[in-house]
Amino acid sequence: MKGTCLCGKVNYVTRGDFLGINYCHCKQCRKANGTAFATSAAVREEDFEVVQGHEHLAAYESTPGKKRYFCGRCGSPIYSKREGGSTIYIRLGTLDDDPIVRPEVHIHVASKASWYEIKDNLPQLDAEEGLWF
Ligand SMILES: [Zn+2]
Ligand SMILES: [Zn+2]
Repeated sequence: MKGTCLCGKVNYVTRGDFLGINYCHCKQCRKANGTAFATSAAVREEDFEVVQGHEHLAAYESTPGKKRYFCGRCGSPIYSKREGGSTIYIRLGTLDDDPIVRPEVHIHVASKASWYEIKDNLPQLDAEEGLWF
């Protein structure tokens, strides 16, 4: 599958299946995305590749060892990754194809925006569990 940033300079591809999709309501995701929550798809590191626009990719270390990568030209959040981790968390709004799988869980619900109400029946976790570490 393919994904691009808002200005189109950063292009990435994913191979293989997504390991899952979450809605993250943590404060950092809210601020990094400017939204009520971030929608992220987990993919194995070896199944993810930035194929164009490396020179535009910037990173912000939001917590020690965890970097959020974004397009330095248009500001699109692209993905996050923990140092030494083997999973990439793609910001799903940048995907240009249908991910096939659908979001399955809300995480960090304890810090969700007061003005946003979750109206689906997906599980709600106060923090992260299992796959979402
Ligand atoms: Zn861009
Ligand atoms: Zn988050």
